[in-house]
Amino acid sequence: MKNASDMSDWWDTQIGRADKLAMQSSGSRELLAFYSQLLRAQKQVYELIRSRQGWLPSGDIEQDLPVLREQLPVLLNTVEAHGPEALAIAARELLPAGAASLDEDLINYWRSPSDIEFFPKAFLQPYARWLLESGAKPLGREPAGGERSCPFCGGKPQVSFLQSKESNAESGNRDLICATCLSTWEFRRVVCANCGEERPAKLGYFHSPEFDHVRIEACDSCKHYIKGVDLTRLGFAAPLVDEVYSAPLDLWAREHGYTKIELNLVGL
Ligand SMILES: [Zn+2]
Ligand SMILES: [Zn+2]
Repeated sequence: MKNASDMSDWWDTQIGRADKLAMQSSGSRELLAFYSQLLRAQKQVYELIRSRQGWLPSGDIEQDLPVLREQLPVLLNTVEAHGPEALAIAARELLPAGAASLDEDLINYWRSPSDIEFFPKAFLQPYARWLLESGAKPLGREPAGGERSCPFCGGKPQVSFLQSKESNAESGNRDLICATCLSTWEFRRVVCANCGEERPAKLGYFHSPEFDHVRIEACDSCKHYIKGVDLTRLGFAAPLVDEVYSAPLDLWAREHGYTKIELNLVGL
């Protein structure tokens, strides 16, 4: 478990990386500019619920909603100002309805997450993250179970990354990041993160010279893929952000008949 100041640093690292890549990149500039603002809103939500006096999350979404929903306008205002048109319109429509406008969506998402539910996913990431750090347990979820879902909350993997670890370097150097609580867990290196396929002939890795440290990790058994960010090639990459940056790889994967295990917050 990381302490609170580590986690504030973590948000800043993501934001800084998104800003930097937004300046550099051509094709993904708009996506990154939006993601950077979204991360700022998520950090703000995180800080607000974390610093709330006399309150700790219970892990039961219905019980926690009265506190959570107060922070919702932070996200809605950001999306209205910086989001792509369809999301900005949706945010604008939700704002006057007040903070309770998304209650049902938040409860449903918590019980059964879906990567096309943009607002609940974006809003509950900082909440789930704070649950983990504050020592609460997520309640009322039906985790898929098994090594392919997050051991804390049961969420699906958003991105995989490789890093060198001194100890047990043989198998322990691939990690997955949870799409719901943003925590990481170790995963075997040559295994499909969707169906568990282990036969190397069924697993493909695809690169583009444009994104030297990112690859598509595809499975021909279930036709799903996840992107992998190689921190041994680029140590200062931030997997969630570099995953967005390398959006053209998603288009490539889709054209080749692969479905992403979990769409990211910019919808790719
Ligand atoms: Zn999780
Ligand atoms: Zn598979």
